[in-house]
Amino acid sequence: MIYKIAIVPGDGIGPEVTGAASDVLKAVSERFGCEFEFNEYLAGGCALDKYGVPLPQETIDGCLASDSVLLGAVGGPKWDAVPNHMRPEKALLGLRKELGLFTNLRPASIQPALADACVLRPDIAAKGFDLMIVRELTGGIYFGDRGRNEAGDAAYDTESYSVAEIERVARRAFETARKRRGHVTSVDKANVLETSRLWRESVHRLGETEYPDVRLDDMYVDNAAMQIIRDPSFFDVIVTSNMFGDILSDEASQVTGSIGLLASASLGSSSRGMYEPIHGSAPDIAGKDIANPIAAILSAAMMLRYSFNLAEEADAVEKAVADVLADGLRTADIKAPGQTDFIKGSEMKKAVLEKIGRN
Ligand code: NAD
Repeated sequence: MIYKIAIVPGDGIGPEVTGAASDVLKAVSERFGCEFEFNEYLAGGCALDKYGVPLPQETIDGCLASDSVLLGAVGGPKWDAVPNHMRPEKALLGLRKELGLFTNLRPASIQPALADACVLRPDIAAKGFDLMIVRELTGGIYFGDRGRNEAGDAAYDTESYSVAEIERVARRAFETARKRRGHVTSVDKANVLETSRLWRESVHRLGETEYPDVRLDDMYVDNAAMQIIRDPSFFDVIVTSNMFGDILSDEASQVTGSIGLLASASLGSSSRGMYEPIHGSAPDIAGKDIANPIAAILSAAMMLRYSFNLAEEADAVEKAVADVLADGLRTADIKAPGQTDFIKGSEMKKAVLEKIGRN
């Protein structure tokens, strides 16, 4: 089988980091014999400049015809003044919608070699952690009915979830846990919210009937926010609603200490997903060979694992990244205080490629 990958580099440092990630996938192909076909499409500010829209139909069609999508980042000051419906970020929302992506996977872990960058207390950081937040992406309060009264002095937002919406994201969480350590924590506010009570019932029913091999527990969202700081090693997979996931995933990524290392995936009901680093287009460092490519490289590893089921290949990429970091190689964003011998983005990519060839 040849896996068709749509590369959507986007703006700013997007092309640099997706370029590095595709080179890594080529090295994986050489070492393991799996085959990839790459096709590049424009989205974001660069598409606006060329086609007058942030998400051209050609890009949508190309992504739909692919087995998965690897995206860099979109946006930048050049397009800050364009009308709202033309903003580069609209390309992300549009792609998620067109590809039917309703779940967001955000891993957060401590690379042992970078434990000192972690903002947690040293004794907590020393235990390490490796968690995955599975967030519902297209429902809940962000998409519910909202408004103001006539006087404009009161406002409301509504949260609503159906069993079907809850089950499809929970299913993704259970499947993800089966590829990890077999533990799901469902996060809700069932002591207050009716949607949370339905959430909890539905997740448990699904767990008992279809995933009895996965350990399932529940946690209130306020407690989960505390535990991510007090004892993140408790968690394997967290599954939660759109708003709670939005907040908890930013919290979890911040405690790891570096934005240049963190990957993400958006998935739907098929195996096709959209994989992207969590950082933006970093216009301040674009074109200077400073950008850390690791977040994009780890996004490609997630693609291997979650869309293509290539676990050995994904392990090899993740191990290569862990090894270069253990060797002490650092780009500017992850250098220790006072460290001056940091390397360029292209040198970081080269080091990862060498490890993949050698390990
Ligand atoms: P940003 O993530 O682009 O940058 C924040 C800071 O982190 C900057 O100092 C940047 O230099 C640094 N940084 C980011 N990625 C890095 C990397 N790989 N290596 C080293 N340093 C890195 O966030 P921002 O500055 O708030 O936004 C810049 C633009 O990106 C805006 O137009 C914003 O809308 C857009 N954005 C896009 C996405 C996306 O495409 N998913 C996400 C967030 C922001």
